[in-house]
Amino acid sequence: MKNADFRSDTVTLPTPSMLKAMMDAPLGDDVFQEDPTVNALEAYAADLFGKESALFCASGTQTNQIAIMAHTSPGGEVICHAESHIYKYEGGGIARNSQCSMKLVQGNLGRILPNQLESCLNNPKDVHLPLTQLVSVEDTANRGGGAVYKIEDLRDIQKFCATKGLPLHLDGARIFNALAVNGMNTKTYGQMFDSISLCLSKGLGAPVGSLLLGTESFIEKARRFRKVLGGGMRQAGILAAAGIYALENNISRLHEDHRRAKLLGETLVMQSWVQEIFPVETNIVVAVLHKEDQRDLVQQQLMDLGIACIAFGPGMLRFVTHLNIDDEALEKAILAIKSIGKL
Ligand SMILES: *Cc1c(COP(=O)(O)O)cnc(C)c1O
Repeated sequence: MKNADFRSDTVTLPTPSMLKAMMDAPLGDDVFQEDPTVNALEAYAADLFGKESALFCASGTQTNQIAIMAHTSPGGEVICHAESHIYKYEGGGIARNSQCSMKLVQGNLGRILPNQLESCLNNPKDVHLPLTQLVSVEDTANRGGGAVYKIEDLRDIQKFCATKGLPLHLDGARIFNALAVNGMNTKTYGQMFDSISLCLSKGLGAPVGSLLLGTESFIEKARRFRKVLGGGMRQAGILAAAGIYALENNISRLHEDHRRAKLLGETLVMQSWVQEIFPVETNIVVAVLHKEDQRDLVQQQLMDLGIACIAFGPGMLRFVTHLNIDDEALEKAILAIKSIGKL
């Protein structure tokens, strides 16, 4: 058996039936908005979340960056979590693309708490301060180990934003993992956020692609920014077909990834070299090691046993379950973890 790759849910490969859907897709030039498959994917996703419109983009970084550009103006400020993807993992894109500063919130496991927002909001009458222009939340929160927002918290955040006239963006790279756990309806989520970014290339198993959802006028603006960023693709329907396939076939199985992640977490937390694990709510398991300097050693020992995981910060390893991790791969990982239990 080849290596079991737990580094990320982005490593999934398209299945034969997904590839067939891609090969069979009718195509056109999407910059002219003439690709029937891209148009179908955008309409499908917009409808799923009850949003007016959607835009197919190359990546989740691109959908997030475009959303932030469309919501803000240079000199503004974005409220986001200090561990958020938009701040930490998008190459400084907010500063570069939107010319905005960020107010970083230290919330619980990658999540902003509603009562943290008031003090982050700058007084618009004070000319010393950048104008607060956007709040962005991440659900599930990657750096929080796949933590899911409490629905009451999201509602309170939404209420706060509505009261203050601030748009609210959701980085929903793993939104379907969140919905699989909190049982919320896609349309309920659609109503709570002004814009949603979601990834087709993570747990849903498409090779490429993300979607940005919002109002008609917001997406019109976003389409212009996508072009500016070089993201206008031509016969992109070949990729969008994988996205449609993913939305139709790969959402209902996410609970399997969550079940396997829980089992992996239960094994990890028993090991003498593991100090603690983050609560396992979805498909991400983060283990904090007793000795920070053993991280690379543990990672290498697991690799030697055919299990790939990823360094996630000082003394931390991350394991992610996904479409290409079956029970056999899980079993192999559990045995490997147990066998290095004597550090
Ligand atoms: C993966 C991810 C993204 C987008 O990543 P891309 O690799 O650019 O598609 C955005 N937000 C979060 C929380 C992610 O985990």
